[in-house]
Amino acid sequence: MKNRLGIVFCFGFILSACASVETRLPVPSPTQLAMETGSQEAEAFARYLKMRKRLDKVSAPILAANAELCKKNRADFGVVTHAKKSYPKHLRAAASRHLGAEDSPIVLLVREASPGAKAGIRRGDVLINAKGKPISAYDKSLKHADNVHIRRAGMDMKIPLNGDRVCDYAVALKMSGAVNAYANGKSIVVTTAMMDFAGSDDELALVVGHELAHNTMGHVRKAIWNTVISGFATRTTRPFESEADYIGLYYMARAGYKLDGVEDFWRRLGVTYPKSIVREKTHPVTPMRLLAIRLAVAEVEAKRAAGTALLPNYLPGKRPDYGQ
Ligand SMILES: [Zn+2]
Repeated sequence: MKNRLGIVFCFGFILSACASVETRLPVPSPTQLAMETGSQEAEAFARYLKMRKRLDKVSAPILAANAELCKKNRADFGVVTHAKKSYPKHLRAAASRHLGAEDSPIVLLVREASPGAKAGIRRGDVLINAKGKPISAYDKSLKHADNVHIRRAGMDMKIPLNGDRVCDYAVALKMSGAVNAYANGKSIVVTTAMMDFAGSDDELALVVGHELAHNTMGHVRKAIWNTVISGFATRTTRPFESEADYIGLYYMARAGYKLDGVEDFWRRLGVTYPKSIVREKTHPVTPMRLLAIRLAVAEVEAKRAAGTALLPNYLPGKRPDYGQ
């Protein structure tokens, strides 16, 4: 029988009534299947690791360069930790086989020239808090670097650790075929499909800056509030998207990323997903986003030329206290 989408499916009790194939299909041996499964998994996780490295490399300068604009800071050692739960449920066993993921967080990679690299932290090390518990690289114990030590092959090591001061938001990579990124007030999540779509590191910085702005501006909280008041979430989230584009551009500029032509990201997105050129729902349309970013780039460049601080133009009375 067919469901509403026209997909054939069978209930157990009418299975015999279902259509079956009419040709003798080639059947690989279980060994061949197991080998090919392992090889595809290995390739998928190698690709994931490469993307994770790139996401860390691109987001780290943004979190560091804007530390004074973020309310909460933490120490960053330049390490990325992972655990089985960092991966989709059905891939956790494979993540354990191919990347060594465990139930509790361990170090997956160490950024070049980072405080962690200088201290000699290695893949497989465990960050341990003052209570002796394994923690992630984004744990709240990391407000101060001296709360943490390293456990290697079961041995506790007193390696002196100095962390850089960065915005206290976790950055995660999600295995997903949807070109997407989002913020939830505590972290920034970028999908593997978005990593592919953001061709250059400058474009990826545009995405990370945008999501960081959602977090620093409290957009998640405000969007929920607006939903409760008006009942029209789709109308009230749009200005926040524009604001995240605007502030995010400042964040990436402060981190030293190139702004030239970065707005083209929105043209490619519009061309690839034409609905977004004209359909204004939760997000502004892509032509509007491209043009608004182009104006913001001109604004940032003018400030750079004049030697003034790279801070967004706030409405009267809205400028946060940056502690200056
Ligand atoms: Zn957004």
